[in-house]
Amino acid sequence: MEAIRCGKCNRKLGEGEYTRLNIKCPRCGTLNQLKAIEPPKCAPRAPNTQEASHGTNL
Ligand SMILES: [Zn+2]
Repeated sequence: MEAIRCGKCNRKLGEGEYTRLNIKCPRCGTLNQLKAIEPPKCAPRAPNTQEASHGTNL
């Protein structure tokens, strides 16, 4: 199961499985509109590659 949290205050609203869900946070009143399938968070960059953008020399 997947925890459902408020997108604003991060309060846990419940848990379960859903395809689409509208749920109003009782704490801050934000209407959270949730969709089930999130895109996978796989970074296309190789982790071993040195980041040249951070040119900090210590
Ligand atoms: Zn909230």
